[in-house]
Amino acid sequence: MQSKDFIELEDKYGAHNYHPLPVVLAKGEGVYLWDVEGKKYFDFLSAYSAVNQGHCHPKIINAMIEQAKTLTLTSRAFYNNCLGPYEKYITEYFGYDKILPMNSGAEADETALKLCRRWAYDKKGIPENEAKIIVCLGNFHGRTITVISMSNDPDSYKGFGPYTPGFVKIPYNDLAELEKALQDPTVAGFLVEPIQGEAGVVVPDEGYLKKAYQMCKEKNVLFIADEVQTGLCRTGTLLACDHEEVKPDIVILGKALSGGTMPISAVLADNEIMLVIKPGEHGSTFGGNPLASKVAVAALEVLKEEKLSENAEKMGELFRAELRNIKSEMVELVRGKGLLNAIVIKPRNGKEAWDVCLKMKENGLLAKPTHQHIIRFAPPLVINEAQIKEAVKIIEKSIKEIEAA
Ligand code: PLP
Repeated sequence: MQSKDFIELEDKYGAHNYHPLPVVLAKGEGVYLWDVEGKKYFDFLSAYSAVNQGHCHPKIINAMIEQAKTLTLTSRAFYNNCLGPYEKYITEYFGYDKILPMNSGAEADETALKLCRRWAYDKKGIPENEAKIIVCLGNFHGRTITVISMSNDPDSYKGFGPYTPGFVKIPYNDLAELEKALQDPTVAGFLVEPIQGEAGVVVPDEGYLKKAYQMCKEKNVLFIADEVQTGLCRTGTLLACDHEEVKPDIVILGKALSGGTMPISAVLADNEIMLVIKPGEHGSTFGGNPLASKVAVAALEVLKEEKLSENAEKMGELFRAELRNIKSEMVELVRGKGLLNAIVIKPRNGKEAWDVCLKMKENGLLAKPTHQHIIRFAPPLVINEAQIKEAVKIIEKSIKEIEAA
């Protein structure tokens, strides 16, 4: 079977909830992917930052294979011999008392929202059913009904109502609006992405997170960081909040927590918050399973052993500097932190970000537009200097070809 055959199958038998670039991938290793015809590509999406450790990292895959042969799932009806050691490892790694293990990012966000609401009633003394959570315009936290209730992107929410109440939406990177919203005594939490990934890698002003955190503290409001995309070394620090030395009350992790091998997510918090949820009040059949526990430990070890924060920081600087050297009117803006970057494309001759991505694909690099004019560049964090330079050459060549067309 050829690429077009696989595309036809997906088109015919799968729901049309995605619009993929027309490439059919069959193999991955490190920063590279291969399609079914054997053509090799740089992966500059990393499965939306889930493959920070590189495709099929041998240490993570070995941990997975070994555990898969031994025990994969018990449910939380019983204890298993992998979860406790994982919980100890990850809480010490991030400096929190407790973890609540889940699977997808959206589920972990939902978990954090439940935790925050319950804390509001049990600890803060907000009257039942009145707790509010402040969220930011432009956010992306996943696809469940409650999560899309926080969204202001019609693609995410339109036609899926009625929505979950209890969210106050304010502009991102706007401390004055946060201050105003925090005046309401029924506010329990502030949920924020340290950098808005899906919105197009929107980096807030320096000091925003720190000040927002302090303002939340003054009002006894939980500062909840969704680090599903920004966490785990992506932006050049373990958590993106580390750039401003902010320790969130609740941290949400996902994606690269498994190195892209299976859905593993987590919510981290201290006892004061985490212990408000009692047995039977929240859970998941697969959350904290033995396979996930072993895989997550291996994925976290790789981040440290291979110094992926440092590499993301260094390679990110180089990448942005090289991108800024591209002489083209189509490149309106280059922005990002570490290896979470984007360019804003100025359309030319009717050609947009999508056309640039098609051209880059032809030339051997995979990336995807987020919104109409933004292309995100987020390669695996194991990328080296020579590879960055080669990738930028492909990006430059592709943009020039589109410009000349
Ligand atoms: N939170 C953020 C910041 C994300 O970027 C995403 C996915 O892109 C999610 C949550 C949802 O994660 P999942 O797709 O695993 O549900």
